[in-house]
Amino acid sequence: MSGSKCARLSGARVQQLLDSVDSVLFDCDGVIWRGDQAIPGAAQVINLLKEKGKRVFFVTNNSSKTRKMYAEKMSVLGFDVNEEEVFGTAYCSAVYLKTVCKLEGKVYLMGSDAMRQELEAVGIQQTGVGPDHISGKQTDWANVPLDPEVKAVLVGFDAHFSYMKLNRAFQYLTQQDCLFVGTNRDTRLPLEGGKAVPGTGCLLLAVETAAQRQAQTVGKPNHFMFDCVASKFGVDPDRCLMVGDRLDTDILLGSNCGLKTLLTLTGVSTVAEAEAHQQSGCAERQGMVPDFYVESIADLLPALQG
Ligand code: PLP
Ligand code: CA
Repeated sequence: MSGSKCARLSGARVQQLLDSVDSVLFDCDGVIWRGDQAIPGAAQVINLLKEKGKRVFFVTNNSSKTRKMYAEKMSVLGFDVNEEEVFGTAYCSAVYLKTVCKLEGKVYLMGSDAMRQELEAVGIQQTGVGPDHISGKQTDWANVPLDPEVKAVLVGFDAHFSYMKLNRAFQYLTQQDCLFVGTNRDTRLPLEGGKAVPGTGCLLLAVETAAQRQAQTVGKPNHFMFDCVASKFGVDPDRCLMVGDRLDTDILLGSNCGLKTLLTLTGVSTVAEAEAHQQSGCAERQGMVPDFYVESIADLLPALQG
């Protein structure tokens, strides 16, 4: 489409943009829901896009749910979605270890039970998930018992993150042939009312700092999330739209993969931030400038209902 970037999307341009794509990738938190509340109108937008023959996919950096759990949550909120259309980092990191790393061996997992399930679904065994039960007084931290079959450390959202686990990951990572993978680098998870909590990126940084090694990350903005969708469904990047609320993950993923990009203002990033990237003159920051923005994805409704 012609015109300068970071334009407000309204009127006839909505239809024009929708006509130019066959597939739409939606980020989840801040785009179709906030926490457990659907964004008003989001379910209608998704369902109408599908009725009009568009293929719709979901790409989320949140590693705390399996695809099945996401599909269940979406169904409760009124979205017509099946689990094959959902690409979360729990699922994608399991696929990454299996298909890209061709891992043979176990994973030391700092993450959720959902991640354990997705790993096991692709045939990868793990150790480490769940709370640590320290029996007696641990003093010999450098000699914790290690599983010789572990060949990778995977770090995702872990509500039971602890020194014990950090130390164990560190001990595995001192073995140079041990792979090091993280789900995503989001450092803050915004909540309602301006509140926030630490994201998985904080946990990953702790492990990277300890091990003095850099993890490969699977989540947005790494193009692997798009590759997962594209390889399974044959998506043409030229005819695909990425919709997200974060410039540094969603919009950058879209730019990295040659997709059209739409920022929605129901989440983290603002138009002022996008304009600051645009006006910076810095080539690297141009990937964080969306083609268009809307107040909410509900702004797509009039075109879909017409
Ligand atoms: N990671 C965790 C643990 C989260 O809870 C969330 C949002 O709730 C995210 C990442 C960001 O998810 P998304 O990529 O859907 O915005
Ligand atoms: Ca988001």
